[in-house]
Amino acid sequence: MLVVMKFGGTAVESGERIRHISNIALNYQQKMGFDVILVTSAVKGMTDEILAVAESVKKGDKSAVNQFVDRLKRLHLSLIDSSIFDEAKKKEAKNTVSELVDLIKNVLHGMLPIREVTPKMLDYLLSFGERLSTFIVSVTIEDIGGSSQYLIGNDAGIVTDSNFGDALPLMDTTKLNVSHRLKPLLAKKVIPVITGFIGADQFGNITTIGRGGSDYTATIIAAGSRADEVWLWSDVDGLMTADPKIVSDARVIREASFAEALEMALFGAKYMHPRALEPAIESNIPMRIRNFMKIDDDGTLVVSNPGKNSHKIVKAISSIRHTALIDVSGVGMVGAPGTAGRIFDTLAKNKVNIMMISQSPSESSISMVVKKEVLQKATSTLELSLLGRVIKKIDVKEDVAVIAVVGSGMRGIKGVAARVFGAVGNKNINVIMIAQGSSELNLAFVVNDMDCVEVVRTIHGEFDLNNS
Ligand code: ASP
Ligand code: MG
Repeated sequence: MLVVMKFGGTAVESGERIRHISNIALNYQQKMGFDVILVTSAVKGMTDEILAVAESVKKGDKSAVNQFVDRLKRLHLSLIDSSIFDEAKKKEAKNTVSELVDLIKNVLHGMLPIREVTPKMLDYLLSFGERLSTFIVSVTIEDIGGSSQYLIGNDAGIVTDSNFGDALPLMDTTKLNVSHRLKPLLAKKVIPVITGFIGADQFGNITTIGRGGSDYTATIIAAGSRADEVWLWSDVDGLMTADPKIVSDARVIREASFAEALEMALFGAKYMHPRALEPAIESNIPMRIRNFMKIDDDGTLVVSNPGKNSHKIVKAISSIRHTALIDVSGVGMVGAPGTAGRIFDTLAKNKVNIMMISQSPSESSISMVVKKEVLQKATSTLELSLLGRVIKKIDVKEDVAVIAVVGSGMRGIKGVAARVFGAVGNKNINVIMIAQGSSELNLAFVVNDMDCVEVVRTIHGEFDLNNS
């Protein structure tokens, strides 16, 4: 049995935890006889810090850069202090970490006078978060008595396009590479310990594959190494029936289909990178979402065809808070083919991602939900290129929440929408917009953000999800 295990940023944020997860991996290898491949994130918050230091570079703020470098060094050296016990290994690891920190320091100092950070440079900088944490995990495994090989994503075989910041892996090449590079290690009972989040393009430039990308790395590696399962270990118990911060008796979902998990990922359950599901779906590799602090707990199993008793009508309520709604209208839109196409095309060209769409049957208005951060870009784009021509009016609601009710059991069952909106209506809450995909896997709607908490609790109760 080959399992790819990904450990998130909270699993490497202290030396004790690094030791703990290294023990988990080794136990599965030595006591259960598994083949194990590890994928690791940067220490929690580190990616954000690197993004922030890039901003400091652009301002020419040398002292902020130096402070960052000092912190980076102190933090990772202190991780080594409590994760690696053997004195010789400790010393060697500290040397390597110091060298890596010197490298990023020199790069940052080189960039300071120019005050420019291109996307390509940024990806190079970002890679240090994962490189530092993953290296320490690898040495810790050796310190405990296992054998391991530290690999950066591209050394493990991940080749991507050159879309820095959000690069797409070239899957066929990658799969071949990964299998070639990892199989010989596994045959020798070596645990490959791979940086999440990072690949390289065909020219060898380091790329990153999108925020939260370590999950994606794990499934890419799983597909390439033909793993039997991929486990995403983090500090959450699994996929939940709702955000436990909103619903205190939310429960762990024991089994979900890939399709359901994808809906949940897209609709705000921040448990995984949405694209992370793709390689797992394509290669049909079961995925488990587990808590590294509760190793006896199986978490959530995500498979293509869950067992019969997991076909509940509604499985989860997700919410994406603080989004914005744009409503464009104009009688000129009625019966004018291509209007929607032009609107979405214009927005797409300006890199505005639309989360949800609905058009009134009269065709005189189209509503869209976007992230608040891109609202301004979205409206100015529409104003500049389409207002007065295709569209007559743009209305904006600035603080709304998208609620998604997810469950494959909804398909073909009558009255689900009636129950959802009946329950919401009984609370006197206004529903602003509704959309249901024809897959009937989810029913999504928009309310004012201030109503979000009550809506999620109400629907969770309506479908008895605390008793699942
Ligand atoms: N370190 C990266 C991020 O914070 C990737 C990850 O954690 O999955 O986005
Ligand atoms: Mg993460």
